[in-house]
Amino acid sequence: MNQDFDIIIVGGGAAGFFTAINIVEKNPKLKVAILERGAEVLQKVRISGGGRCNVTHACFEPNELVKFYPRGEKELRGPFHQFCSGDTIDWFEKHGVELKIEDDGRMFPVSNSSQTIIDCFLQATQKLGIKVLTGQSVQSIFNPEISGENIWKIETQTENYVAEKLILATGSNPKVWEMLQTYGHAIVNPVPSLFTFNIKDPRIKELPGVAALATVKVKDTKLESTGPLLITHWGMSGPAVLKLSAWGARILHDKNYQFTISVNWLNDVDADEAEKKLKELKQEHAKKAVSKKSPFDFPNRLWESLVHASGIDSETKWADLSKMQLQNLSNQLTNGSFQVNGKSTFKEEFVTAGGIDLKEINFKTMESKLHANLYFAGEIVNIDAITGGFNFQNAWTSGFIVANAI
Ligand SMILES: Cc1cc2nc3c(=O)[nH]c(=O)nc-3n(C[C@H](O)[C@H](O)[C@H](O)COP(=O)(O)OP(=O)(O)OC[C@H]3O[C@@H](n4cnc5c(N)ncnc54)[C@H](O)[C@@H]3O)c2cc1C
Repeated sequence: MNQDFDIIIVGGGAAGFFTAINIVEKNPKLKVAILERGAEVLQKVRISGGGRCNVTHACFEPNELVKFYPRGEKELRGPFHQFCSGDTIDWFEKHGVELKIEDDGRMFPVSNSSQTIIDCFLQATQKLGIKVLTGQSVQSIFNPEISGENIWKIETQTENYVAEKLILATGSNPKVWEMLQTYGHAIVNPVPSLFTFNIKDPRIKELPGVAALATVKVKDTKLESTGPLLITHWGMSGPAVLKLSAWGARILHDKNYQFTISVNWLNDVDADEAEKKLKELKQEHAKKAVSKKSPFDFPNRLWESLVHASGIDSETKWADLSKMQLQNLSNQLTNGSFQVNGKSTFKEEFVTAGGIDLKEINFKTMESKLHANLYFAGEIVNIDAITGGFNFQNAWTSGFIVANAI
């Protein structure tokens, strides 16, 4: 027998819950169900942000916020004017969750626990009478345009459902994308985003945990980013690297994650300027050992390693540096080449670049342009962001827009 609802939302993740709650809050008469394939809902919320859930980012201008989205920058402008990060803060506050801002702009629940967000969503769905049905993996959907009846039919492995409107919030699920392809939707090929670079190099081997502000470029591409760079046991991570992995998700995938980067540990200072500065230091510190103390704003251990890599031994005095050694050192400081061989998962947050082609979605409503009464929310569409709370913001904004439209 069919179970009958006004609205069915497939996917019990961030986007699915936010959409469901907003729909019923706006129209309590609607009978809404969330179908979740897993035994538990909101699994990604639970592990997000290292268990703290980085809910959003303290960037309150829609035109600024869009700049954090390698995919979706143009399309999110309108939606963010409807529901932006400030609205997220208000929404959670109204639902009993206070958020706090960290120094880097990331926003977390004051409790520092993702469980607070989960509890908030579960309490709201219960209060509003939204049915949350777990263990329901949607296998097929039948389009009303095909059946001729004005209703969507949804089949899971055990149950059949019907609904007037269908919302897909299944995240990055290849099976659902395949299903949508059979309905004519184009899917942009999914590739990973937000990963760290695997690098084996004597210059950084002994330096896990060392961090510095740096500019990183991927050779033979236009990819470049500046920010904190963290040396890890496997290679390099930190915002500078994660930003590159997001903006370059497709290019780096095509290179099979084998490429060369150049690192400028002095950011915008070029090799000539660095050499000039080194010559001044040679005069000022003539009798001191070069490797003893970093004259730049980064850790001593890194300085020692770069000095060593420039062919300067630990006892050499500034006054004794040859022209060649000075050039080597300025080159190591501003243009050090590192070979990347593969990638690793960034445990705090990762996403998939790719999904439903943005051209096929009406961003005023998040409805499919191909099929009436079919809506999308969250990571299922070809939108993703750099790390920092932006990916959840996309889930909240798209969920809000679907709810508003319905
Ligand atoms: C480890 C980790 C940490 C992260 N931390 C952060 C963070 O701190 N801040 C941030 O902004 N972003 C973070 N992200 C990204 C963020 O989690 C995602 O962008 C967000 O969860 C997307 O929400 P969604 O609802 O679209 O998809 P999901 O959260 O993936 O939810 C989709 C749901 O649909 C269900 N589903 C799929 N197919 C079916 C089917 N056929 N039938 C029924 N159900 C189905 C899935 O089981 C899942 O529960 C993190 C990601 C990871 C992996």
